[in-house]
Amino acid sequence: MSNLTKTTNALHAGHDTKLTQGTRAVPIYQTTSYVFNDTDHAANLFGLKEFGFIYTRLNNPTNDILEKRLAVIEGGIGAVVFASGTSAIATTFLTLFKSGDHIVSSSSLYGGTYNLLNVTLPRLGIETSFVNADNVENFQNSIQENTKAIFIESLGNPKLDVLDIEEIAKIAKANKIPLIVDNTVATPALLNPIKYGANIVIHSLTKFIGGQGTSLGGVVIDAGTFDWTSGKFTEFTEPSKGYHGLKYSETLGETAFIVKLRIEGLRDFGAALSPYNAFQIIQGLETLEVRIKKHSENALKFAQWLQTKDEISWVNYPGLKSSRYLELAQKYLPSGQSGVVTFGLKGGFEAAKKLTDSTKIFSLLANIGDTKSLIIHPASTTHQQLTEEQQLTAGVSQDLIRLSVGLEDIEDLKEDIDQALKQI
Ligand SMILES: *Cc1c(COP(=O)(O)O)cnc(C)c1O
Repeated sequence: MSNLTKTTNALHAGHDTKLTQGTRAVPIYQTTSYVFNDTDHAANLFGLKEFGFIYTRLNNPTNDILEKRLAVIEGGIGAVVFASGTSAIATTFLTLFKSGDHIVSSSSLYGGTYNLLNVTLPRLGIETSFVNADNVENFQNSIQENTKAIFIESLGNPKLDVLDIEEIAKIAKANKIPLIVDNTVATPALLNPIKYGANIVIHSLTKFIGGQGTSLGGVVIDAGTFDWTSGKFTEFTEPSKGYHGLKYSETLGETAFIVKLRIEGLRDFGAALSPYNAFQIIQGLETLEVRIKKHSENALKFAQWLQTKDEISWVNYPGLKSSRYLELAQKYLPSGQSGVVTFGLKGGFEAAKKLTDSTKIFSLLANIGDTKSLIIHPASTTHQQLTEEQQLTAGVSQDLIRLSVGLEDIEDLKEDIDQALKQI
C-alpha cells in the first residue's frame, strides 16, 4: 500500500514483522554489537559498500525502526536518533560547521540551545547572530559571507511565537544555506516543516513524542533537499580525511548529510540513543496524535479560562484570539497549537514563585510534554543563566509562568490553579 497517512505510519512505518520473528510490538535489541559473517562482510560494512549493523553507537535495529518511522512522518528521506534533543542539535552543528562559520538563529529558543549557540560554540570559533523572528527580514539582514545555516524553533519555547517557516525557507534558499528547524514543541503530528521548505528537522523526543516523561532522546531528520555542492560546504565535496577519501555528495547524493551525521557524528561524539529508550519512545510515538490533540484542546481551554482571572495580567497561547501569532498559527498549526501556555501575574516575580510553589496537581519541574501537567518559572530556572536582556529576547519576562497542560480533567486543573492563586 502506498501513501499511508502519518496517522497510520506513526503505528507501522519501519517495522517489518517478518524481520522480527513476527513480534507485533517493536522488540528491544539490547546488544552492543553484531556478529559479522566473515572478514569480507565486516570490511564491506565498514567501507559502506553494504548496509548492516556494526556497533550500537552507530546503529541498532530498534533505533533503526524509530528512525525510519520518524523520517516517514516528517516527510524526510532519513533520520538519526540521539541520546537527547540537545545531542541531536549539537551533533548536527558539529557535523556542519567549523571554526570561522556563522549561524543566523531566531532568538526565541530553548535555554540550552541558546547557551550552546551563545557561549559554547563561539569558543570553537562558530558565531551566531540572534534575530527577532517577528520580522522575517531580520534573517536576511544578518546573513554574512560566512553564514552556513539558519536555525529556528517552529514554535518557540517558551515565547510560543509561531515562525513563518515558508518565508524563512525562501531566504535560506536564496542564500544557498540550509534551514534547520527544531520542531519539538509543535511535534510532527501538528506540523511538518519540510512541507514549507525546511531542510533539516530536529526534535527532542523527550517531550511530547515520548510523551510520558520516562526517557530522553533526540532525532535529526533530513529532507534530502539541500544541495551541498554549491562550494560553501567543502566537506561534502572534497575527499573526507575522516573516511578514507569519501566524497560525500558525489557518492551518497541526497543522503550525504544524514549518512555523514551517523558515520562521523555518532562515531566521533558518541551520543547514541539506548535501544531501551528507543522502545519507550516508540510507544509514545504510536499515540502522539491523539495525545497532542487533547493536550492542545486542554491548553486552549485553559488559556481562555486564565484570561478571566483578575490576578493574571496576560496570557500567551498561539490559538487565543488575542495572540499576535493567531494568523500564523492558523496557517502552520491548524489542528492544534500544542500543550504549552504561558502567563504573567500582576504580583510579578514573587507572586510567580509563590504560585509555582503552591500547585498540587501541576508538578514543579523542568520538562514539557508529559501526560501530567507541569509548571515552572523560567526566569529563575531554565533561563537563569541568561542575562535579563537575553531573557527578554528569548521571550522570558520575570513574571512569566510556563505551563505544560497535561491530559487530566481540565476542571481539576482549574481548581488547582484557583487554590494556588489564593495562596499569593
Ligand atoms: C527540551 C528541548 C530541547 C532539548 O532536548 P533534551 O531532550 O532535553 O536534550 C531542545 N529544544 C526544545 C525546543 C526543547 O523543548
